[in-house]
Amino acid sequence: MKIREVVVDEEVDLKQTRRDILKLGTLMSLSYALGGCHMVTDESPELILMNGRIATQDERRSFAQAVAVQKGRFLAVGSDEDMMRLRGSSTQIIDLGGRTLIPGLNDSHMHPIRGGLNYNMELRWDGVPSLADALRMLREQAARTPPPQWVRVVGGWTEFQFAERRMPTLDEINRAAADTPVFVLHLYDRAFLNGAALRAVGYTKDTPAPIGGEVQRDKQGNPTGLLIARPNASILYSTLAKGPKLSREDQLNSTRLFMRELNRFGVTSAIDAGGGFQNYPDDYGVIDELHKRGEMTMRLAYNLFTQKPKGELADFSQWTKLTKPGAGDDLYRMNGAGEMLVYSAADFEDFLEPRPDMPPVMEPELKVVIRHLVENRWPFRLHATYDETVARALNVYEEVNREVPFGNLHWFFDHCETISDRNIERIKKLGGGIAIQHRMAFQGEYFVDRYGAKQAERTPPIRRMLELGVPVGAGTDATRVANYNPFVALYWLITGKTVGGAALYPEKNRLERTEALRLYTVGSSWFSSDEAKKGSIVAGQLADLAVLSADYFSIPEEQIKQLESILTIVGGKVVYAAKEFSKLAPPPLPVSPDWSPVRTYGGHWQADSKTAESAATRHAMQPAKLRAAHNNQADGAWSPWWLGCDCFV
Ligand SMILES: [Zn+2]
Ligand SMILES: [Zn+2]
Repeated sequence: MKIREVVVDEEVDLKQTRRDILKLGTLMSLSYALGGCHMVTDESPELILMNGRIATQDERRSFAQAVAVQKGRFLAVGSDEDMMRLRGSSTQIIDLGGRTLIPGLNDSHMHPIRGGLNYNMELRWDGVPSLADALRMLREQAARTPPPQWVRVVGGWTEFQFAERRMPTLDEINRAAADTPVFVLHLYDRAFLNGAALRAVGYTKDTPAPIGGEVQRDKQGNPTGLLIARPNASILYSTLAKGPKLSREDQLNSTRLFMRELNRFGVTSAIDAGGGFQNYPDDYGVIDELHKRGEMTMRLAYNLFTQKPKGELADFSQWTKLTKPGAGDDLYRMNGAGEMLVYSAADFEDFLEPRPDMPPVMEPELKVVIRHLVENRWPFRLHATYDETVARALNVYEEVNREVPFGNLHWFFDHCETISDRNIERIKKLGGGIAIQHRMAFQGEYFVDRYGAKQAERTPPIRRMLELGVPVGAGTDATRVANYNPFVALYWLITGKTVGGAALYPEKNRLERTEALRLYTVGSSWFSSDEAKKGSIVAGQLADLAVLSADYFSIPEEQIKQLESILTIVGGKVVYAAKEFSKLAPPPLPVSPDWSPVRTYGGHWQADSKTAESAATRHAMQPAKLRAAHNNQADGAWSPWWLGCDCFV
């Protein structure tokens, strides 16, 4: 990166004043020019990023040109001139070349600890533009996967993203892979197993009907390979859990690669919501070790998810003895309980099925757990899709609060797609928050089919939540239903559209770009009690940021979902770099095992990867359209190195 000499063009008096302030090392903040300059010390910074368009997400939503970083935190933000004046002899300068820089993205609800353990053995269909591509990848991957390993496609896709707008058939899956077991999960409503997978899990004509799911059978009573989540998704979870796991070494590599994949999308923090078959403390050994080795490249706050139907209180009683919220550090920290608190309160979000009514035992079971958590001052989160579930949980919360006040505990609901105003107000009154995700971007079409377009208009009613002053955090709920791409989630917040292009929300329930981004940064920080620590580019906050491939604020809306980070920094350290910043990238991380689909395809579909054969074909066929699209780049005037392409749908 070149060091730029800054042309001094400000008034002499003002400059002299500022020099004096720096000399004195005075703690103060000045406001002028592009959003102000905030200085906390006179020591020289390790890093200055300058000549950028920095969306600080501070209280005034101001933009700045440059930012200085010291000891893993932002030291000061302001104009190029003022930041360059802080430069010392060892300060590294990164010229952003006019690029847009945002605070690191914080996904307040995903499952990255479990996702990381499995990432290297999953074939991701996230963002794949056609079923033909998806099946080609499946066929190729089956050929390179050694026994007894499976090919797994574990969510993150919907048929509406495919040009063909349909799911694969069992015939197509069996043709793509005859001998290698294949498990393809579609949302939480079904899984497709090929013949080899049925043999591997031992489902035959004689297998009794499982509890908590349906094995589809042909006329002779043989399983067809289709598993249906009716009445709930346990059959999907439990069948997937029968597959082989990666070795410990490969899990370490897999988790690192998954973090790096999230870094590619500018994600620097996530709040982990636990997950089925994600046991504490057994399944946290890998992430613990990476933390100890200093190999985490994103921050994780994690909630503990009970694994024992009817034994939930026992789980939480054991954990409140074992650990406590806040245990850990800013990279890896315990955040409380959830998203599963009691199994009787779990309303699966399968809009192909009618809304499940929670059993009457929900209230007493939830009450003992909530009471235990509040007594121990554990923040908690609860998965709740429907207003009816939220209302019943709130009845319990209000009752507990009368006995043991919640105080300022950062408790919250997750999802809340159909929540009513009345219940948002009740949450506000009890001091809670709502973490929302773009699950509707993957299943909005199903919701509209069942409940109608009118009902879908506020699923969830995000604007209402904000108007009523409830803390709202954004996220994805990746990896098994929605995908982990935050820009697809931001696109959904801004346009109100599904990944298949269905427009769900009227203007009044869509967000302006800055506000949407704010939910993903400042908004999410409340959910791990980090609101003073991260989310904005202001002096004193953790130096987590992402430099984007194009200008989020001015590109056409459709291009928002194609954004990536080209420079991601966590705590002042570069964790991901591409394009003109690639020299700053951390060393490559070879993928293990060698048959891993990640080795060939990466994770999320990449239009310019070697696998994008059909996308390349489309480009070759449409040169005029491609040129026209590029000529319309809103940022084209100042970004000659723009190499992206909007032909990736
Ligand atoms: Zn959930
Ligand atoms: Zn979840």
